[in-house]
Amino acid sequence: MTTLRQIELRCPICRHSFHSQAVVSTNAFGGKRTDFHECASGTQPLAYLIHMCDECGYSGGERDFSGATEVSPLVKEHVLNELAPRAPSSTSGSAKYEAAAKVAEWQGVEPRQIADLLLRAAWCCVDEDDVEAERYFRRLAAWSFEQALGSYDGVAVEERAILTYLVGELWRRVGDLGQARDWFDRVPDEVTDPEGQHWILAAADQQRTDPQEWFG
Ligand SMILES: [Zn+2]
Repeated sequence: MTTLRQIELRCPICRHSFHSQAVVSTNAFGGKRTDFHECASGTQPLAYLIHMCDECGYSGGERDFSGATEVSPLVKEHVLNELAPRAPSSTSGSAKYEAAAKVAEWQGVEPRQIADLLLRAAWCCVDEDDVEAERYFRRLAAWSFEQALGSYDGVAVEERAILTYLVGELWRRVGDLGQARDWFDRVPDEVTDPEGQHWILAAADQQRTDPQEWFG
């Protein structure tokens, strides 16, 4: 099962102290979806890996509240102008990841990392049973991964095949089968280690011809 503990965090933007729940331990007994969404049995941990200040809406992982992350005046201005007016309207997992993705963007974080946060927002929407929002975040995540793949050095060479597959799978789950096929077709060209990455080729082939929701 997933165990949580209460932690106290201090917001680096507005200095407000608040309580949040953090993950102590979890499991992957719920299986893995074909978009790499690992599910736990019992409580899903995803929503508790990110925290939101209930005063100004600043969001991030535990270390983003530890003082380790530098917060520039510009980031602070963005948070106070764009997140604070609607905080804390929702502290659902997807809302927290959406806010964290915005903060990351203002901090100038690479599209590769922003895409991860948007993908996690989509995964939270699955747990929240919100199909519309799930599609919305899947699209944003796909575009962000595409941007990373399209930029020089945006993605490590050995990671390109897996992310190319993932973009295909995101479009498939959005319902855009044309784009999904285009991306699955590109996977073979991105493989750098034919033996080690054989499973990605097999997965791309499967999701193009006989799509499955779960791995294994
Ligand atoms: Zn705050």
